Amino acid sequence: MADRIQIRHATPLLPGERSATDPSRAVTLGVMGGGQLGRMFVHAAQALGYRTAVLDPDATSPAGLVSHAHVHTAYLDADGLARLADAVDAITTEFENVPAEALRRLAERRPVAPGGDAVAVCQDRAAEKAHFTASGVPCAPYALIETEAQLAAVPDALLPGILKTARLGYDGKGQVRVADRAALAAAWAELGRVPCVLEQRLALAAEVSVIVARGADGTVVHFPPQGNLHRDGILAVTTVPAPDVSPAQAAEATACAGRIAASLGYVGVLCVEFFVLADGALVANEMAPRPHNSGHYSIDACDASQFELQVRAMAGLPLVAPRLHSPCVMLNLLGDLWFDAVGRERTPDWAGVLALPGAHLHLYGKAEARRGRKMGHLTITAASAEAARATALQAAAQLGISAF
Ligand code: ATP
Ligand code: MG
Repeated sequence: MADRIQIRHATPLLPGERSATDPSRAVTLGVMGGGQLGRMFVHAAQALGYRTAVLDPDATSPAGLVSHAHVHTAYLDADGLARLADAVDAITTEFENVPAEALRRLAERRPVAPGGDAVAVCQDRAAEKAHFTASGVPCAPYALIETEAQLAAVPDALLPGILKTARLGYDGKGQVRVADRAALAAAWAELGRVPCVLEQRLALAAEVSVIVARGADGTVVHFPPQGNLHRDGILAVTTVPAPDVSPAQAAEATACAGRIAASLGYVGVLCVEFFVLADGALVANEMAPRPHNSGHYSIDACDASQFELQVRAMAGLPLVAPRLHSPCVMLNLLGDLWFDAVGRERTPDWAGVLALPGAHLHLYGKAEARRGRKMGHLTITAASAEAARATALQAAAQLGISAF
């Protein structure tokens, strides 16, 4: 029964048409989660002419503030899920920690893309790594640690390593770098002895990510690989085209991401993060079942953004390969920029930054700036990669972001 209901639309959901399930309203697209990714999804859906609805427990969520409708309940609230399903014609998600069970329940009522089963794989690092391996994509050597016996049996070759909680980590949270067995045991205790993976710490020559969109008919399109710089476990700078990546590596990363999506039966936008090792080998790190911070540049530098492709995939519209029309650099704007050197609050110099050529400012409407909190991003587009980088360095200096 569930399988029959999950069959995708025979025809696309067209913007502005009457809803087939509720002719009293126009076609509406729903999103689980109200953060900045949901906000940019809502912007893209509305630009195409759709109505939108967001489910998020926070009354002032970035996406809820701009959506036609906002259901304020917990993700597993039965009434909230029913209200969201009533209000929409298809549903997507904007962050991977929406309980997969909520997506499965919604799928009994409406098409959900990506599906709960695919999201469940992305929510668990052990399942994710097993999926990479099954898709023929290498990942860092690792061991699963759920018991004292598994802790004791960890091979020496994995140290020094990084201990990561299997679930609910993001932006470097839930991770501890460990040099030896004593540090490993202490770190596992510190993390509450929850299921973890220990990964060998690799020497990274570079980091790249690839975003693909896959339709229900199996069509896959992709963005060019993005070069990513992380600071303190948080994405700081994305550069496209990715420097330090050969055409062969770019082709391999893209093919790997496409295989990972296809073998999940995935519908929607998927991001796969890769490490590039010193010998040029590519290793998959993790994946996100949604648009990704490293793809925000696509709004301003491509002829279709990752959010537009998310809309198209869930609505059954054609997926057309996006084209990068301008080299670019994206800077993440963390809450730290809202404080001066002695910790006083300030407003960053937006007027100065917007005086730079090719500067595209995106702020997410979050009321309170906190250190490490993603408040917005700035994309610099230019006619050449060199010019984009030079202007981005100027913007970084104006805002107080360290040079890269
Ligand atoms: P996010 O969800 O924000 O991408 P996360 O908290 O899920 O981050 P990871 O992507 O696993 O964390 O790791 C964050 C960063 O830490 C990586 O981008 C990389 O810079 C570094 N890192 C993670 N694992 C390894 C590893 N095995 N070897 C070397 N560096 C690593
Ligand atoms: Mg990551």
